Amino acid sequence: MEVRVGVLAIQGDVREHKNHLALAGATPVEVRTLKDLNRVQALIIPGGESTTIGMLMAEEGLIDEISSRVQNDQFPVYGTCAGLIVLARDVVGLSPARVGLMDITADRNAYGRQVSSFETKLRISVFHDQPDFPAVFIRAPRITRYGPGVTPLATYDGSVVMAEQGALLVSAFHPEMSGDIRIHQYFVEKVRKTLKV
Ligand code: GLN
Repeated sequence: MEVRVGVLAIQGDVREHKNHLALAGATPVEVRTLKDLNRVQALIIPGGESTTIGMLMAEEGLIDEISSRVQNDQFPVYGTCAGLIVLARDVVGLSPARVGLMDITADRNAYGRQVSSFETKLRISVFHDQPDFPAVFIRAPRITRYGPGVTPLATYDGSVVMAEQGALLVSAFHPEMSGDIRIHQYFVEKVRKTLKV
C-alpha cells in the first residue's frame, strides 16, 4: 500500500530526502503548510538552522498540529540534525520553538568549530550485522541526556547520535548525504508498522 511521507520543505536537503524516500518505496510530499500536512502519514524534518525552522513552523501552525498528532502516537516523525533539535524536549543554550516531545537533551553545535563537519562510519544497532553507515555530521548537536523511554541506536565518541522513542526517530547526522538509503528504509518500515499499512 502507498505510504505518503512528508519532507518539511523550509530548509535543508529536501530533494535528497525525497529521492531517498522514493527509493525506499514511499511517496514523498513537500510540506510547508497545514494543508500539506494533511496529505501525509509521517514527516521528515531535515537539517538546517533550528531557530529558523522552528520559527517558520510555528508561524504556519505546524508545531501545534505535529505535536498533537505525535501525542496520539499516530504520526511518525524523523528529525535529522536541526530536526533532532526541533523534536528534543530540552535544548542546551538558545532554544528554538519546537515540537519538543522526545525525551532527550540536545546540545547544539556541540562538536565545536574545529571539527564542525566530518564523516564517519557508524554501527547502527538495528542493522545488526550489516556494514557500518556512512554518517555526515554538519554542525551537529549532541544528545547529552536521554530518558527511559528512549532507545539509543548508534553512538559516536561517547554520545548517542541516533535514537528512537515510540514513533519518533532522530539522528544528529545527515543520512540523505550518502547514497545509503537504509535509514530511510528503516523509517518507512517504522511508518508501515505504526500505521499498520
Ligand atoms: N547547528 C544547527 C542548529 O543548531 C543544526 C545543523 C544542521 O542541521 N546541519 O540548528
